[in-house]
Amino acid sequence: MSFAEQLIDWRRELHQYPELSLQEFETTRRVRHWLENAGLRLLPLSLPTGVVAEVGRGEKIIALRADIDALPIHEVTDVPFASRHPGVMHACGHDIHTSVMLGAALLLKEKEQHLAGRVRILFQPAEESFGGAQRMIQAGALDGVSAIFGMHNEPGLPVGAFATRSGAFYANVDRFALKVTGKGAHAARPHEGSDAILLASQLVVALQSIASRNVNTLESVVLSVTRIQGGNTWNVLPEHVELEGTLRTHQPAVRDQVKRRVNEIAAGLAQAFAADIAVTWYEGPSALINPARWATFAREVADEQGYRTEEADLHMGGEDFAVYLQQIPGAFVSIGSDSQYGLHHPAFDPDENLLEEAARYFARLAEKALLQS
Ligand SMILES: [Zn+2]
Ligand SMILES: [Zn+2]
Repeated sequence: MSFAEQLIDWRRELHQYPELSLQEFETTRRVRHWLENAGLRLLPLSLPTGVVAEVGRGEKIIALRADIDALPIHEVTDVPFASRHPGVMHACGHDIHTSVMLGAALLLKEKEQHLAGRVRILFQPAEESFGGAQRMIQAGALDGVSAIFGMHNEPGLPVGAFATRSGAFYANVDRFALKVTGKGAHAARPHEGSDAILLASQLVVALQSIASRNVNTLESVVLSVTRIQGGNTWNVLPEHVELEGTLRTHQPAVRDQVKRRVNEIAAGLAQAFAADIAVTWYEGPSALINPARWATFAREVADEQGYRTEEADLHMGGEDFAVYLQQIPGAFVSIGSDSQYGLHHPAFDPDENLLEEAARYFARLAEKALLQS
């Protein structure tokens, strides 16, 4: 079996047995087994799922990171290696990322004697649920590491294409819940109550004015109300309506401004309608910020490798690689995977031909990063 065939084989096996965040037990077992068979050194990891391997020797350590979890999506592709777990699918391509970093680990093992230090390869659980990076850090996976690199496949780019950017890349992810409490009444006698549904409707519209009328139009911001629930019959005005949604931004100041405006609008409307609106914020990962030096370095190595490189667009999605970059420098990059259907789509079908080139890229990137001061 050639190197490329090996990577495809591993990816297909991972793809057939996807596991949700923090349930990646079989995936962990497979990755450990493959790494051990290739002679890689596994580090003890005090987490139920996830793997950390290391190659080389010396003080200096560079890290590579793959994520290993899948999504609660029912696959609808007709590939022969489609998910055998109903309702669970590698629809974000973390099977691809895992296979790429397995490949990089093998390549680095081959040249272990020539490495100017150690390369630590992280197979991180729970990226989709946004807790995995934090767990890996708490378990010591970053100890002694001077820079870290990771990738996401990019379905909108062809195989052979590479993109990254300096500064903000992926978004701050916030979730909000709004609970409107009015006063229930007979639907035919609305003046005796305070209509929570009418107020919730005004609230949805008013929130949309934040992006268009409060935030500088040159900044990125998305505010989406994604769930609204209230009432249980046709002739009663309900007392409660619940709303939920997400806020995506890149700049901390914009994030703070929008959150403040949501709170102000909720308080103002509640007062105007003689009702109550409780706002709860749940903070997700912060924006992924690539330090310029390492983003430039990652792109230069990609150029040398023969990738067609370009400046990446800002992403409105979240990526918990951001958590590593809050601790140490490094870079996150996009590698073209050319899928007609995008990430998190049940028909997502990335082109496996990216695997070998990407594995060679990350092996080389780590090797060269060890030589940087
Ligand atoms: Zn995802
Ligand atoms: Zn992903």
